Amino acid sequence: MAYDFDLYVIGAGSGGVRAARFAAGFGAKVAVAESRYLGGTCVNVGCVPKKLLVYGAHFAEDFEQSSGFGWTPGEAKFDWATLIANKDREINRLNGIYRNLLVNSGVTLHEGHARIVDPNTVEINGERYTAKNILIATGGWPQIPEIPGHEHAISSNQAFFLKELPKRVVVVGGGYIAVEFAGIFHGLGAETTLLYRGELFLRGFDGSVRKHLQEELTKRGMNLQFNSDIERIDKQSDGSLKVTLKDGRELEADCVFYATGRRPMLDNLGLENTGVKLDKKGFIEVDEQYQTAEPSILALGDVIGRVQLTPVALAEGMAVARRLFKPEQYRPVDYKMIPTAVFSLPNIGTVGLSEEEAREAGHEVQIFESRFRPMKLTLTDCQERTLMKLVVDAKTDKVLGCHMVGPDAGEIVQGLAIALKAGATKRDFDETIGVHPTAAEEFVTMRTPVNA
Ligand code: FAD
Ligand code: NDP
Repeated sequence: MAYDFDLYVIGAGSGGVRAARFAAGFGAKVAVAESRYLGGTCVNVGCVPKKLLVYGAHFAEDFEQSSGFGWTPGEAKFDWATLIANKDREINRLNGIYRNLLVNSGVTLHEGHARIVDPNTVEINGERYTAKNILIATGGWPQIPEIPGHEHAISSNQAFFLKELPKRVVVVGGGYIAVEFAGIFHGLGAETTLLYRGELFLRGFDGSVRKHLQEELTKRGMNLQFNSDIERIDKQSDGSLKVTLKDGRELEADCVFYATGRRPMLDNLGLENTGVKLDKKGFIEVDEQYQTAEPSILALGDVIGRVQLTPVALAEGMAVARRLFKPEQYRPVDYKMIPTAVFSLPNIGTVGLSEEEAREAGHEVQIFESRFRPMKLTLTDCQERTLMKLVVDAKTDKVLGCHMVGPDAGEIVQGLAIALKAGATKRDFDETIGVHPTAAEEFVTMRTPVNA
């Protein structure tokens, strides 16, 4: 049967755009549908605007520290509306770049909500198109627990468009988004409380990293409340919010921001017209080649709930395009040693196994750890300390994990990720000459294990 398209991609986010562009480049006839914004979550309400706000928040400490270097800065004033307007302008520019990327690579762009009507047909804007393969790349959506008053809370989707910076913010959650946004609000001058239901935030990260960040955020004056959860939120007559915790305590806030994970975006997608199956958590189930239970339908990115990171969605998009249209170049995505950063202030950068994971996997580990006051701060009153940690297999000498909390940790860990991926040993690290004077050189000068 002749189809309208070889591949119909639903969702022009990180993974969908990558798959569509490369498939078209390999000679396939490709369409992509987008209902909301070109570039998806990352470009519009994720990585990019988030990082711009983090840069904005970082200036506060730069102004403060400059006096140690002889500067007398004028009175620093911050205007939220300017930051948001400039951010919006940049995002609009990126939307245009995404449009050009798609159109110039020969992809047909359909703007509207796409719905699957049978395993080879998509309906959008009242038209039906057939395709040999359909790729679901519809991403995720913030999930707020339905406690009484949840309608007064916002998620990251709204946080990027607030009309003004709230004076008092309660951030709920202990994952990437909660920690990053608590840092943004706090850095920009809001009185910020971070509420997390467990003992210590950032579950899954290395224990030293979690503890170190807790100490640093506390030093900066952020109000961290662990083992805490919200019972209800009530709007008061003056418009402020009364937050009642499960242990009976009450907090006052102008904004309650939930960052309690993301669900797959499957709304009105028409999966009931297909044999696509969902996993226990409700994400689309796929095999190692992103094939769903329906032979003509594939899925990738956040909607499959594996690793919700843009570079992973990009790698999956590339793998799908190659698998379908350039099989001789197909290589499976390697999910080991994925580096990641949390853009808190200070940043976390991490790659490989945490100490806890390494021990659990049966490794006999040597731990190298260094905590120091960065050189830049020696002329200031700031008492912030940087943490660097290596987890090494005592038998093979292989470096299993690198972890850092400190300025530019994300930038530093990207290079280390290449070394770990290539199987670097501690001896390779020791024999690498440092770049002096940097913080990063500490990663090649740690000599004595702390657990020797
Ligand atoms: P998305 O980028 O979400 O794209 C899905 C697209 O599909 C959307 O544009 C949506 O409108 C569209 N769509 C959905 N349903 C339909 C339909 N039926 N018809 C047509 N179109 C549809 N990752 C990082 O690596 N680094 C970071 O710093 C980072 N920061 C983040 C910060 C925040 C606040 C958030 C929320 C996420 C962040 N992420 C970060 C995660 C990253 O954004 C996602 O992992 C990534 O965007 C997933 O890409 P995707 O292609 O799977 O989906
Ligand atoms: P995460 O899954 O990272 O964290 C969710 C947090 O919310 C956890 O601390 C979890 O607690 C808590 N939680 C979950 N349900 C509830 C509930 N009902 N009540 C109270 N707390 C709850 O999700 P995020 O929303 O922070 O981010 C989604 C994903 O987006 C991330 O996992 C990441 O992959 C990606 N992302 C990446 C970024 C980056 O690369 N820098 C930045 C932002 C997002 P518990 O630990 O107890 O389960």
